[in-house]
Amino acid sequence: MELFELLRQIGKRVINLTKLTGNPHLIKKINKSLVLEMIQSEGPISRADVAQRLGLNKGTVSSLVKELMDEELVYEIGHGESSGGRRPVLLLFNEKAGYSIGIDLGVHYILGVLTDLRGNIIKEHHVTFHHKEYSTVLALIKETIGYLLNDMPNSRYGLVGIGIGVPGIVDKTGTVLFAPNLSWRNMPLKNDIEASFHVPVVIDNEANAGAYGEKRCGAGQEFDNIIYVSAGIGIGVGLVLNGDLYKGTNGFSGESGHMTIDVNGPICRCGSKGCWELYASEQALLEGAQSLSITGEEEAISLETLLELAAQNNEAVLQLFARIGHFLGIGINNLINTFNPQQVIIGNRLSMAKHWLEPAIQQTIDTHTLPFHRESVSIHFSKLSIYSAALGISFFAIEDFLKKGERIEVFL
Ligand SMILES: [Zn+2]
Repeated sequence: MELFELLRQIGKRVINLTKLTGNPHLIKKINKSLVLEMIQSEGPISRADVAQRLGLNKGTVSSLVKELMDEELVYEIGHGESSGGRRPVLLLFNEKAGYSIGIDLGVHYILGVLTDLRGNIIKEHHVTFHHKEYSTVLALIKETIGYLLNDMPNSRYGLVGIGIGVPGIVDKTGTVLFAPNLSWRNMPLKNDIEASFHVPVVIDNEANAGAYGEKRCGAGQEFDNIIYVSAGIGIGVGLVLNGDLYKGTNGFSGESGHMTIDVNGPICRCGSKGCWELYASEQALLEGAQSLSITGEEEAISLETLLELAAQNNEAVLQLFARIGHFLGIGINNLINTFNPQQVIIGNRLSMAKHWLEPAIQQTIDTHTLPFHRESVSIHFSKLSIYSAALGISFFAIEDFLKKGERIEVFL
């Protein structure tokens, strides 16, 4: 970081803290969350090291740690190395104090994971569906949650929250305003799930969730400016800018699947023409395969079948993947030229085709992206594979819980 930027950020912090001096309760809450975050990321760590790293005095840290231990979010283990005096007691985050559920709602599938508070997957459940009516899919989501809850271990807080990533635009009340590939408008998903399970529910766009999952524990851990391309039946984009998830004024950013790449192109489900996802998504791949009659079979072909055929060097399938990769590259090129990111991560189901998509994507970027932008960007595929969105949205629910000042016991 440049010195100027460093000083600016320190300045910003000093000003913010000065403004907060009238509210000791708020300052304590912020300090407590900082202490918890430090123990989460750096544990095992001693109270003295937490105090020194955060610039807080030892007494403050000790009393905050006592509260966190009473809340069973932190516990003590053994002793660390002595730096002269007594060997210090080390602190660890208690990831088994509660559990969270993350649901990735796709256009044809539901992937649910039960995780502990560190995002370790305890159990997962996968279902596919063909009837997309809201009531049918809602029932399947509830069944998935019920199934995951059956195996939730006992803990202090039980289920702390549920997150659901959806392929569409979500408002701040958790209503799905528009999901073109599900044909949903104005569906009150958050309210409907809360009414059944009585825990906080967070609903967000699946690409935002996927971007966050990769940033927290996947391919994006070392990067601060990331474009996450969720390439499934549709295409969504999650943006991590300057280390934070960027969601736009109303939380509607990332609908890049509907950027026009051909003004004379076919009509899209969103009402526009020539949208990127008509050329570069799993749906585009499957339609391309059907028009080639590759298997000679009547039944609908799947991505999995095409992956097998590509592995057998089926020339028509290899060309099809190269075409999809080329069009993925076209949209990614537009995003790189706009945002000048350090990293692009290609995620969701098409990431399974990395081996066959990557050369065509890279070639398109090499020939289309501005050289200044190209120099600093890395193109990666998701590390969490199909779990990016489910884990990311589970983290949203966990963080909402950990940031709450007063925790209440939740029993199911
Ligand atoms: Zn569109």
